[in-house]
Amino acid sequence: MYTTSQNKDSDKRKLILIADDEKINRSILGSALSDDYDVIYTTDGAETLNMIKEKKDDLALVLLDLIMPGMNGLDILKELQNTEGAQNIPIIVLTSDHDAEVESLSIGAVDFIPKPYPSMRVIRARIKRTIELFEDRHLLSSMERDALTGVYKKDFFFKYADLYDQKHPDKDMDAVIIDISHFHIINERFGSAYGNRILRTIGENLHDAIQVLDGIVCRKEADTFMIYCPHGTDYNQLLKTASEGLYDDGKPSNRIRLRMGIYMCVDKSIDMSRRFDRAKLAADTKRNIAADSIGVYDDAFSEAELYKEKLIEDFHDAIETKQFEVFYQPKFDITKEPPVLSSAEALVRWNHPTLGLISPSEFVPLFEENGLINELDRYVWQTAADQLKAFKDKLGTAVPVSVNVSRIDLFDPDIADTLERIVKNNGLDPHELMLEITESAYADDSERIIKTVNELRDKGFKIEMDDFGTGYSSLNSLSTLPIDVLKMDMSFLKTAFQKRKDTRILEFIVDIANYLSVPVIAEGVETLEQLEALKELGCDLVQGYYFSKPIPANEFEKFLTNSKTND
Ligand code: C2E
Ligand code: CA
Ligand code: CA
Repeated sequence: MYTTSQNKDSDKRKLILIADDEKINRSILGSALSDDYDVIYTTDGAETLNMIKEKKDDLALVLLDLIMPGMNGLDILKELQNTEGAQNIPIIVLTSDHDAEVESLSIGAVDFIPKPYPSMRVIRARIKRTIELFEDRHLLSSMERDALTGVYKKDFFFKYADLYDQKHPDKDMDAVIIDISHFHIINERFGSAYGNRILRTIGENLHDAIQVLDGIVCRKEADTFMIYCPHGTDYNQLLKTASEGLYDDGKPSNRIRLRMGIYMCVDKSIDMSRRFDRAKLAADTKRNIAADSIGVYDDAFSEAELYKEKLIEDFHDAIETKQFEVFYQPKFDITKEPPVLSSAEALVRWNHPTLGLISPSEFVPLFEENGLINELDRYVWQTAADQLKAFKDKLGTAVPVSVNVSRIDLFDPDIADTLERIVKNNGLDPHELMLEITESAYADDSERIIKTVNELRDKGFKIEMDDFGTGYSSLNSLSTLPIDVLKMDMSFLKTAFQKRKDTRILEFIVDIANYLSVPVIAEGVETLEQLEALKELGCDLVQGYYFSKPIPANEFEKFLTNSKTND
């Protein structure tokens, strides 16, 4: 036999419960519905209530007789109103009593069918429509709301916030952000179930509080909530309310810290999302405060913050219009005489249309804070790999290029695959794209970082430990870290050649590299004196203004051409 039945939800027959103690009623309704629906029956009030509770996730509709033995229909309705999950089931009451109709509608029934019954066609049509309506509504609210916390999702939130403005054009509004400090650490330390409990509690607290305040709330992402509400709200109180019940497990070490940022009386001529960026900037000024705290954005907000805000705002446009440019700074092998070009470091620059050339030290830390660094770094890696391929195609040879990998990148579970894909798509070998990872990246959550770095090494990438000496790794832990090259922090070279030359610390770093059996590279080499000293100490590679500043690809090409002819 040919069958169209598939395991799809839409094909599944919907389940209807008929609760009526009279056999004749059950069979009339049952035979009218059983062609289109699966039908189950109950004949007693208490049994009905239990059945609804038990099948609440499956029931599409309940037809409820108001007068039954055991428990009266109105009491069942009241009880169901307080039953989690049962509010989504449409209930149609069956009754001959007109007064009861009205009462049952007021306590949650959606419709009623009078006794004696109207035509079966009418009943079927009404049931079908009710089920459809409820499913649509349920679908809508599950799309709008964050499953974990029950507050709005971001997209809907922005829509409703705009609608709110349209309805109340003259009302002063505040944009508010609530962030949980170090949430990722809480999550890792105590498990995501604990983290979820925290989020749910805060979400519920805010949801309840905000209704009273006539505002709206959403969860923006992991640990950030956004609130849009009328100006004049008592935020100290709101912050207190948000954290109610969080410490019930009495573990003081688990104390959760909330950070609130408020942008008061928003400028309604700017985008909704920018209003919340401002609230976020205000919250971030409280980053290092040990208690729940509130930061307020105002017009006197420092210029630096406005500048940051602009950089964040312009980021995506900059990626799209290729404003980011990758420069290359050559590295030389000084164990050879004369020194030989060995590789280059890719360093990003931002050619901003109005702000001019911006240095990465201005935007990299900022983008590390808000996660944009992932996108930027992928762009830089891709550009560097494409460039390397182009050099090889044109010149027949090239040197490896190292790219910077932010510690934030290392939390991306796809990073190893991403880098592998970038390399393979250009026909490169992984050791041609070296990865610079700063020593401090290994500091917290080192286990996870080490695992990721090992994965990268297994794929054939070489790891350079950047800014070595600033991360306070002990010698012990160093020997267990996955590294292929030590890149000593520039500050050591600077200090060593200040007023009185003292190179003992450099010697010490070279010793550590020897102990770990990895080459050492010195960056920030600006003078011949420094170069000579480093050679003498046994340093293998150098990078610095003495040889070249970071330069655009076309200029770097000359280094490649020269080194080729010197071969
Ligand atoms: P870094 O990785 O330690 O890069 C070395 C910095 O020292 C570069 O600054 C370079 O231009 C500079 N430098 C090189 N030679 C000399 C010298 O002889 N003297 C002096 N005084 N400085 C020298 P830059 O390009 O401004 O980059 C700053 C930092 O920004 C980098 O420090 C790195 O942490 C970060 N960065 C740059 N590009 C990227 C990138 O694509 N991704 C990521 N995640 N970070 C990047
Ligand atoms: Ca670097
Ligand atoms: Ca460095």
